[in-house]
Amino acid sequence: MTKTKRLYETNAYLARCEAVVLDVRELAGDENNKRIHRIEVITDQTVFFPEGGGQSADIGWILPEDCNVDACIPSLDVTDVQIEDGVIRHIARYTDEGTDPVKNGGLKSGGKVVLNIDWERRFGFMQNHTGEHILSGLMHNRYGFDNIGFHLSDNSVTLDVNGQLDEEEILLLEWEANRVVYQNLETEVSYPEDSELSQIDYRSKIEIEGQTRLVTIPGVDICACCATHVRRTGEIGLIKIVKVIRYNGGMRLFISCGGRAFALMQKRQQRIEEVSHLTNRSQDEIGDGVRHLLDEIGMLKQKNRDLEYQAAFLRLETIPAEQKDAFLFVGDMDPIVQRNLVNALCERHEGFCGVFSGNDEQYRYIIGSRKMDSRDVQKILREKLGAKGGGKPAMIQGSVNGTEARIREILP
Ligand SMILES: [Zn+2]
Repeated sequence: MTKTKRLYETNAYLARCEAVVLDVRELAGDENNKRIHRIEVITDQTVFFPEGGGQSADIGWILPEDCNVDACIPSLDVTDVQIEDGVIRHIARYTDEGTDPVKNGGLKSGGKVVLNIDWERRFGFMQNHTGEHILSGLMHNRYGFDNIGFHLSDNSVTLDVNGQLDEEEILLLEWEANRVVYQNLETEVSYPEDSELSQIDYRSKIEIEGQTRLVTIPGVDICACCATHVRRTGEIGLIKIVKVIRYNGGMRLFISCGGRAFALMQKRQQRIEEVSHLTNRSQDEIGDGVRHLLDEIGMLKQKNRDLEYQAAFLRLETIPAEQKDAFLFVGDMDPIVQRNLVNALCERHEGFCGVFSGNDEQYRYIIGSRKMDSRDVQKILREKLGAKGGGKPAMIQGSVNGTEARIREILP
């Protein structure tokens, strides 16, 4: 089959084009929804960018020219686009409710169609892709890093490089990238001959086939790339590095450009305002506000522990001093208080002393003894109730499922 003419390579701003259908094929439908049918459409030319080089395919719709317009829009949606040996396949779908575009004769080999891409989505891809070139180019020039991975989809844009930068260098990189946006540089596309190409220092991506297409942002980046980019860097609007993680010995940058970056910053601004309101501090001081709350929580926790301790010690008095073993069942208790309580019991009673904290579904226990081997109790709890835990003769701890009544039955 003849290779598809890729209109997006010469004009990335073409959102729609006419084309002649070369082949239409029924594909297996949607298993989960029998009313959804899938077809594959191959045309002589297209504005649809196929999945490749880490970038998701364009989506959009196909309108057969002979088709009844009302019946076919928007039911023939293009949900995926793939390229193989230079032939681009549009994977489209329609539901029963729409007119079957093949059976009604509108979509057939030799027929004409109009191809439309979801332009807003594509433009976002162009902003993000060009932003990626700028960041990769700057890192390549300044630090000699290579781009070793790129992913651009509806949800995220990531860029992997084989080197690492510290926080300050990342902030500087972000500033420089946005300065390139302000300079509003023109992106140039060229197809140099092999002899010329050997003289040019350009970044290359692996999956290049056929003639090399160079995308140049003057003074910033030269890269071999088949994808779609904005005409001038000013159209990117904003380049934001959202997150950086160490990755494969280098780093992965999560980036956001253009409208996406703006929407993200708008949302973050709302969150910051919310925290500012909740902490009763200005936006610049929310860190202090949160720290103040954490300090307060820490203080309250300590106070709560003290009260729990005091309350628990009152319960010690309820156990007769002459009793050899002593076990207390309490609600959810701080483990530090629980341990102190066991120690206090051990001072008063010479047998096994334990505190069970929790409820009748599950208890966390600590058991100790001055003279006996606490592990004997652990053994009983494990054998009779499947308790999990362990420790030393002086003290064991673990957890057990069962009611207080049932546990007391088997305790010494
Ligand atoms: Zn590119």
